[in-house]
Amino acid sequence: AAEGQRDFIRQIIREDLATGKHHAIRTRFPPEPNGYLHIGHAKAICLNFGIAREFAGWCNLRLDDTNPGKEDPEFVEGIKDDVRWLGYEWHDLRHASDYFEVFYDSAIKLIKDGVAYVDDLSPEDMRAYRGTLTEPGRNSPFRERSVEENLDLFQRMRAGEFADGAKTLRAKIDMTSGNMNMRDPAIYRIRKVTHQNTGDAWPIYPMYDYAHCLSDALEGITHSLCTLEFEDHRPLYDWFVDKVDLVNHPELWTHLREGGFRTEPAKPRQIEFSRLNLSYSITSKRKLAQLVNENLVDGWDDPRMNTLRGLRRRGFTPGGLRLLIERLGVSKQNSIIDYSILENCIREDLDATAPRRMAVLDPIKLVITNLPEGHEEQLTFSNHPKDESFGTRNVPFSRELWIEREDFAEVPPKGFHRLKPEGEVRLRGVGIVKCDELVKDADGNVIELRCSLDLESRQGMPGADRKVKGTIHWVSAKHGVATEVRVYDRLFNVADPDDETDGKTWIEHINPEAKRIVTAWLEPAAAQVDAEQRFQFERLGYFVADRVDHTSDKPVFNRTVTLRDAWAK
Ligand code: ATP
Ligand code: MG
Ligand code: MG
Repeated sequence: AAEGQRDFIRQIIREDLATGKHHAIRTRFPPEPNGYLHIGHAKAICLNFGIAREFAGWCNLRLDDTNPGKEDPEFVEGIKDDVRWLGYEWHDLRHASDYFEVFYDSAIKLIKDGVAYVDDLSPEDMRAYRGTLTEPGRNSPFRERSVEENLDLFQRMRAGEFADGAKTLRAKIDMTSGNMNMRDPAIYRIRKVTHQNTGDAWPIYPMYDYAHCLSDALEGITHSLCTLEFEDHRPLYDWFVDKVDLVNHPELWTHLREGGFRTEPAKPRQIEFSRLNLSYSITSKRKLAQLVNENLVDGWDDPRMNTLRGLRRRGFTPGGLRLLIERLGVSKQNSIIDYSILENCIREDLDATAPRRMAVLDPIKLVITNLPEGHEEQLTFSNHPKDESFGTRNVPFSRELWIEREDFAEVPPKGFHRLKPEGEVRLRGVGIVKCDELVKDADGNVIELRCSLDLESRQGMPGADRKVKGTIHWVSAKHGVATEVRVYDRLFNVADPDDETDGKTWIEHINPEAKRIVTAWLEPAAAQVDAEQRFQFERLGYFVADRVDHTSDKPVFNRTVTLRDAWAK
């Protein structure tokens, strides 16, 4: 939080409150509903909603739906769900399309004020007239049309008289501006496409740069936070806000109030911050969609995806994601965050919040020969080593156990402190066992370890404190619940999948090991849980009961993250 206090955006806001420029802080999160939200959006969400919360203001969720055809109501529901999952609630839910009338009337005002005109240049010609960074643009031959002619043509554009691309409404600014965005940008284009909210009511649609700033102004947004690539759109943002001047032209928007919208226009200030980029990841909706459409993953909520739904299904926590965003802070410096920083935040949150259980992912049998056949006990285990409030549970123990195959080595490497022939190891919560004998199959593979339990080393016995170097976990074979476990890892096997200097495309960097399915054994108290229950499986990592496929009859768990970073170089 201390970090958060110092970032430049919160500083601006504090000053604006101190000087009385604003009495309340209003922000918005404006996603385009053309895909599901990803980890990058989490930064924009935490920033906009977080600031509103910290300063007792409010934040709207605004669906920026000015691009019909690419947008889908399915994504709208997904976005709402994801924002709530991250722990935030919006003041109002709005759509840019709620304001189509206002945008249209505002455009009429711009035409009447002589600062917008209808251009007949084709899109290609318009591009050619625009010039380049080093070369000024040229005025369109249609630039000096009269107000009357512009009004007539624009009204006919709106009536659907012209074909797609035949005419464009443009702002009359400066074709020689050093800022390309100011060279008479488009305001409206003709697109005869059905819109998911407004149907076929509009054959023309407003451009992002026009619709976005006016939506902000209409909603009374004080601080319009966006990513750095919009920095040189800011002069245009201010130009539209000033020229339309909604604050002083209530005739443009009072009908919204009559329609039941709470609205109190204000002059917003755009402030840019750097995007969140993560190594071993892609944060482009287009590429995420490609992964889904080409069946390279199992849908938008595949736990390997860094969509918020994917991360959620993977077991990542809202608290862990908020911690990441808080730690990274806010600046104008673009950088790529190492994926392990994200994983560490998730571990930190789960370490505090996830109860402990025992599970064996790759089993080998261990038989305790000095316990009678059919021996069974209930042992009491604490659910969290650092937090008594998690309570305790019963763990069934019996003569035959599953242990992790890699906790035994017939020919142990140097420094191996787990089980080996004639060696001793502590069975967690039980006592010390010694491996007396191996049982092998016809091919010579070890299939069973026959061990004796030092009864003096059991809890409450005089030898309970006797030290051995290793402690391993186990699950009672008789009581263990066979469970599908999906062992997930990073989706890409290189830090920068977009780097093509090695001759490979980003798709060729997909990590084929990122999903592995095993049948594991879980202690009963781990299996009979609700979907989305998270656990630490001792010594293995954090796991979550899959929110789609898990039932207590047929448990399915996903590995969220290992206990330690296995990728560190
Ligand atoms: P994409 O390029 O993946 O389509 P976008 O920026 O077009 O992303 P929008 O739906 O328009 O996606 O974004 C909604 C908000 O989230 C915008 O304010 C945008 O700046 C912000 N945002 C998007 N990606 C990131 C990111 N990686 N880091 C921080 N903020 C982001
Ligand atoms: Mg976009
Ligand atoms: Mg984009």
